Amino acid sequence: CGIVGYIGQNNSLDILLNGLEKLEYRGYDSAGIALMDNENINLFKVKGRIAALRSHVNHAAASTVGIGHTRWATHGAPSAENAHPHQSTSGRFAIVHNGVIENYLDLKRDYLDGVAFGSETDTEIIVQLMEKNAEKYGETLEAFRQTISLLKGSYAVALIDREDHDTIYVAKNKSPLLVGLGDGFNVVASDAMATLKETDQYLEIYDQEIVLVNRHFVKVQKLDGTDVSRSPFTAQIDV
Ligand code: GLU
Repeated sequence: CGIVGYIGQNNSLDILLNGLEKLEYRGYDSAGIALMDNENINLFKVKGRIAALRSHVNHAAASTVGIGHTRWATHGAPSAENAHPHQSTSGRFAIVHNGVIENYLDLKRDYLDGVAFGSETDTEIIVQLMEKNAEKYGETLEAFRQTISLLKGSYAVALIDREDHDTIYVAKNKSPLLVGLGDGFNVVASDAMATLKETDQYLEIYDQEIVLVNRHFVKVQKLDGTDVSRSPFTAQIDV
């Protein structure tokens, strides 16, 4: 139901947890975060409140790249296993997703035969497809483009890749998502309210766009790879 992401110089943990708390008003049944360290992406997920997540991640190692999520279950019961982020089988990719992938059963049948799933969500299909497509296409960006092109339904997604410590991959269709711009960092959020403490400069993302969010730049493209240029707006919300 809500997404927050951070890539920068600071420890992402508090920024993600504070951001998720700001999104609590949207309602949720479970929550989780993925933090990338030098070697791995580590997941922390709970059924229930952000406060429970906070105590669960108490001892997490510092990480300058992370994504977080509050879930309102549509496919699969509310549980720690079904909470986001979801990870591909090898552990290489982790994703958070808001929305509903309408063709997830078709995609599972057509492309993911024999894959061992760790959840009952529609979302996990995206991250498992990502892993297949990364093997097939080599480059993560191309794999992401191919994966997103296969999806039908609504989605705002943020994805991280263990083999690329400099990028959060973002895409959206019919679900809200903004990219917040900072100095030496950038953020991703379904609502600017989640990250207003970090920045008030935001880029609107349109449906069927893909965004590469680096610490030092943000690159927006259409699904066909054409570059898009757009000016940020100043978020004015009383907090
Ligand atoms: N359809 C996804 C799920 O059930 C995402 C739900 C949401 O937007 O929180 O896990």
